[in-house]
Amino acid sequence: MQRRCSSCCFEALRGESGANEISRSNGDLRVYYGGKALGTASGSAGAEAEQMNDEIKTIAQCSLAGDEIDRGQIDALVGVGGECFGDLLYWASEIRQRFFGNRVRVCSIVPGRLGGCNQDCKFCAQSARYNAGYTAPEVLSDEEILSAAEQAKANGVTNFGIVYSGKGVSERELERLCGLIRVIKERFGLTVCASLGLITAEQAGRLAQAGLTGYNHNLETSERYFGDIVTTHAYGDRVAAIKAAQEADLRICAGGLFGIGETDEDRVDMALELRKLGVDTVPMNFLHPIEGTPLGDAKALDPREILRIIAIYRFILPRTTLKVAGGRVRNLRDMQSWIFYAGANGILSGNYLTTAGRAVEEDMQMLKDLQLQPEMD
Ligand code: SF4
Repeated sequence: MQRRCSSCCFEALRGESGANEISRSNGDLRVYYGGKALGTASGSAGAEAEQMNDEIKTIAQCSLAGDEIDRGQIDALVGVGGECFGDLLYWASEIRQRFFGNRVRVCSIVPGRLGGCNQDCKFCAQSARYNAGYTAPEVLSDEEILSAAEQAKANGVTNFGIVYSGKGVSERELERLCGLIRVIKERFGLTVCASLGLITAEQAGRLAQAGLTGYNHNLETSERYFGDIVTTHAYGDRVAAIKAAQEADLRICAGGLFGIGETDEDRVDMALELRKLGVDTVPMNFLHPIEGTPLGDAKALDPREILRIIAIYRFILPRTTLKVAGGRVRNLRDMQSWIFYAGANGILSGNYLTTAGRAVEEDMQMLKDLQLQPEMD
């Protein structure tokens, strides 16, 4: 994408990302996608936008240099109006290019244990406290997990994640999982990561010895807002689990969920906490409201808002893999490919835990069409 001026950014978006109408009306430049206006630049508003675009560029230079941008700079990005949307995406894309080139991380997961959880995370269909169809736990057999790993391998995915519902795993489950991790590595040559809830450093060490590469545990939101979403465990428990996994030298995949009633301030606080923790990958989930959960009636985020969140995270975490995970298909619809122009460099492909995703082949085709290179962990 060649940058010439803020208006040309819209041209570039049209050329590369599928915006399907750009028009001028009363001196205003408008860009539409699927009939929806994405941005406008006009007379005096245009001058303001130009000033704002210069500020975005200045902040981007810090991120491009790999420096940490400060809270004031982040607040400036958060305050950017819709007329600068194109520039925000342009620079986020530049930062992604600088640190990741055309490489995109792809992983897939299998729910080793689904549902029946005694915790009360308000967004989660797997809590036994809600009526979302997952009150009793379903545990996959060894054969089912190995078959899913084989399928992942056949799909060209080399990083395989095993996800368990619940606050944590028992000693018996931990032993079983250590055995499965060894078999998956030996038999299929896959790297394995896991998401097993709260763990201790001792448990993390045993998983690492068995060959586990990475550990996922999300913060979900800011410390301030966490208590509104979860009451059965504390934000500090989650931070402790991440630190325990770090002690065992596991790669950390930790992010959160957007669209659960949080504010921009909560989003920024979580990004800064993740930056402080030095996590390797940030999975970004966007609420897919599930009937029967307390957030079942929540209004889903619209695609443009999702892209804005990804772009701001890219500025804050220039060198960290941003992986767009749950809610991608449902919330972004035809605009899924735009995530890369907003700065994402990873996707969770295949099905999610309780909702359908997209076939891995379709995602691979999307990457091919975008001339992006799937990179397995
Ligand atoms: S997010 Fe995890 S801990 Fe919370 S209810 Fe769902 S499965 Fe349980």
